[in-house]
Amino acid sequence: MDDGKVKIFKGFRVQHNDALGPAKGGIRFHPQETIDTVKALAMWMTWKCAIVNIPLGGAKGGIICDPHNLSLREQERLCRGWVRQMARNIGPLLDIPAPDVMTTGQHMLWMLDEYEIIYGGRFPGAITGKPVGLGGSIGRIEATGYGLIFTVREALRELEIRIENTTVSVQGFGNVAQYAIEMYTRLGGKVILVSCWNQESGESRAFRKTEGINLSELRAITDNFGEINREKAVKLGYEELPGEKWIEQDVDILIPAALENSITSTNADFISNKVKIIAEGANGPTSIEADKIIEEKGIYLIPDFLANSGGVISSYFEQVQSNSNYYWSKEEVLSKLDVKITDAFISVSDLSKKQKLYIRDAAYILAVDRVAKACSVRGWT
Ligand code: GLU
Repeated sequence: MDDGKVKIFKGFRVQHNDALGPAKGGIRFHPQETIDTVKALAMWMTWKCAIVNIPLGGAKGGIICDPHNLSLREQERLCRGWVRQMARNIGPLLDIPAPDVMTTGQHMLWMLDEYEIIYGGRFPGAITGKPVGLGGSIGRIEATGYGLIFTVREALRELEIRIENTTVSVQGFGNVAQYAIEMYTRLGGKVILVSCWNQESGESRAFRKTEGINLSELRAITDNFGEINREKAVKLGYEELPGEKWIEQDVDILIPAALENSITSTNADFISNKVKIIAEGANGPTSIEADKIIEEKGIYLIPDFLANSGGVISSYFEQVQSNSNYYWSKEEVLSKLDVKITDAFISVSDLSKKQKLYIRDAAYILAVDRVAKACSVRGWT
């Protein structure tokens, strides 16, 4: 630590399946991280890569820590320490980490730098989500949020609803939420509420403006962890509510874009009858019990491993660019992203219509089947 003391942190990496290609998945920094969460998230990465047809497997990593209480130098040492322990198990042909909850391009670059020191060369394809200009892909930062809205756009098309006539309530104001709001408002929709974590009180807070929130004014009063300054938001005319209110709004679309287990049997009943779509920006935001309630309500649910797959799709594009050392334009990245995620959405929706399946079930059937076939063709079963 900066004060000269030694502190031990615990970190993980889980590789779930690499039948379709090298394992892939983010690294999270969170004080409540557990090995079981990381295992579940690694498995979701397997289904996520399979559903969007990219030649990668599933992995996830994490360090139990709270970056709010660590200096940048301390965070750098954590990143380098994690790589020193994991260096033999990661790499461009083995397992490629990326950013996730509370990790950024800066963390990825420190990790890559340590990896390159160990192996004595430049291996930009070993980690994705790097800063642009240092092996990162243009469009990677925007990709998860933008991709999420591409799936919402397709769902609205199926429901024959014009995006201009819709409203959204968003849980979270981190990277995914901010870029989802950017694309959704660009397409004409109106976001009436966002929520975020409040470090000081240890609770979440929601900020509502029924005439529509202003993304750039909120971004200007938000820190690197996606926390909106309460006093400044209230001064700007936002109504402050307890964070859990995000789910009770009379909106057409709900976007949980914070952490896992946000929609549970205790709050799913509060979802307004007006809600037509839930697009899962976070990984695992819905509990099994809540999922049943959503299905019974007849809400069009876009499951996490499809809805938020834009991040790993653009990570795959970044890896391709890094490995060939040739970088694409933003238009190329974003249009390829749109094609890939829309294709996946259409295959899932077609299967769900054909076999009268809940969308999440249709998505699992497609993804699990692809991975199972890959295992079987390889002779693993
Ligand atoms: N952390 C992101 C996810 O959960 C991206 C993973 C990646 O790009 O490898 O999908």
